[in-house]
Amino acid sequence: MAFDKGALKVLLVSTEVNPYSKSGGLGDVAGSLPKVLRDMGVDMRVALPKYQTVPHEHLTDAKKVSEFTVHLSWRAQDANVLALDAFGDGDSVYFIENDFYFNRENYYGYGDDFERFAFFTKATLEMLSRIDFKADIVHFNDWHTGLGPTYLRDVYKGFTYYSNMKSLITIHNLHYQGVFGREILWAVGLNDGYFTGGDLEFYGNISYLKGGIKHADAVSTVSETYAHEIQTPAYGYGMDGLLRDRAAATGQIYGITNGIDIESNNPETDPRIFVNFDTKSIEKKRMNKYRLQEELGLPVGKMPMLSMITRLVEQKGFDILSIIMDELLSMDVQLVILGTGEGRYENMFRHYAWRYPDKVSANIKFNGDLAQQIYAASDIFMMPSVYEPCGLGQLFAMRYGTVPLVRKTGGLADTVTHFDPKTRKGNGFLFEDCVASGLMWAIRQAVDCYHSPDWNTVVKNAMTGDYSWQSAAKEYVDMYEKIKG
Ligand code: ADP
Repeated sequence: MAFDKGALKVLLVSTEVNPYSKSGGLGDVAGSLPKVLRDMGVDMRVALPKYQTVPHEHLTDAKKVSEFTVHLSWRAQDANVLALDAFGDGDSVYFIENDFYFNRENYYGYGDDFERFAFFTKATLEMLSRIDFKADIVHFNDWHTGLGPTYLRDVYKGFTYYSNMKSLITIHNLHYQGVFGREILWAVGLNDGYFTGGDLEFYGNISYLKGGIKHADAVSTVSETYAHEIQTPAYGYGMDGLLRDRAAATGQIYGITNGIDIESNNPETDPRIFVNFDTKSIEKKRMNKYRLQEELGLPVGKMPMLSMITRLVEQKGFDILSIIMDELLSMDVQLVILGTGEGRYENMFRHYAWRYPDKVSANIKFNGDLAQQIYAASDIFMMPSVYEPCGLGQLFAMRYGTVPLVRKTGGLADTVTHFDPKTRKGNGFLFEDCVASGLMWAIRQAVDCYHSPDWNTVVKNAMTGDYSWQSAAKEYVDMYEKIKG
């Protein structure tokens, strides 16, 4: 498809893009939003690092379109750009290749992450003129690409090619701020002058995300509630004042709730699940549960299956869950966990799986196919999060008729409504305060409902919601138009 001459041009810069790389929701968003926006006539392209783990089949059709050297202070590193026509409508995905930085086992967690992602960010800007893609907006995401707005404003805007480009930074999780010592400024090509409160300085260190928030033309996040929450001390992680100032100066922090790709996540057609089903054949969902119980070595039966598919980190509410584990497991339920993360939580679930082998299945790994099988098989999907910028798990769950049980925060508050047996409205179960008793209350509500004639209604309410990108994509277009000016 050729885009109109006046089409909006956007480069999305992300360290994860599904199906090439994904550790959480960022990968889902960067993987699914571009296609929807391209279908709507926006020439959106996406750049990501070429990690060692990008499945080879995606790279066979990628072709090298540029190579150049990126300078970070005294260091010069080469970048190859491999372009892929991912959607059959022209080049849309660009892999930045540099084996020194990215030919490693993991995406994150190295001592030189500050340098790896500074390199990546700068390379994506450098790439634009090399491949002649004069973006109206460069859309950065999270701390890893947080230096982008600073590089664009202070380094690249001096060149005519870049002078009209605008930048946007989207916060997918404010907790991760890219905080490093002052000394690394030099290493990433910025001088010590950036170490001030009005710039990158953050409580005696520097923060990539702060730089992004300070210097981007606009700031957005992934749900409306989270856009408000992050302007309060409870959720601001030290950046609430900065965000309030930004909102006051520019009118707003945009909050656009994520959607999901409803085509590849369709219970009617998904080849990864055991038995396909839709709203007219919800009874077939149960076959998925029986098959999964068999696979996981759990007793096969009708008891409600609660599940969690998530990074095992404090954010996801495991501290309150740990308090009620025995009480929960005294009920006739099963609990299926899929996740990796902090050792203390991995071990907690291994422990309970050992103590309650007939009730708990702890799958401490990352596995996309098993994730789909759990979304399809389970009855109740738990997200007792301390905070949740948007959350995608609850959306996938609902798409597969699994009822979400969530804490009322961030995107969870925007997408889940508490079921009311009187009105028969509501697609899940919510609790307000981040306390164990609240979680236990919601679990009892959900399990009681599971055993009542109302259950099918809740499941149907969940399944029939609109979780597609369509309306969110329109909001993105409006936001881009406003930023472009
Ligand atoms: P976050 O972005 O905070 O990690 P989200 O709920 O927004 O949380 O997105 C999580 C995404 O990662 C979902 O697509 C979920 O299915 C997936 N996911 C998380 N852990 C695993 C795992 N261990 N195996 C497979 N998929 C996982």
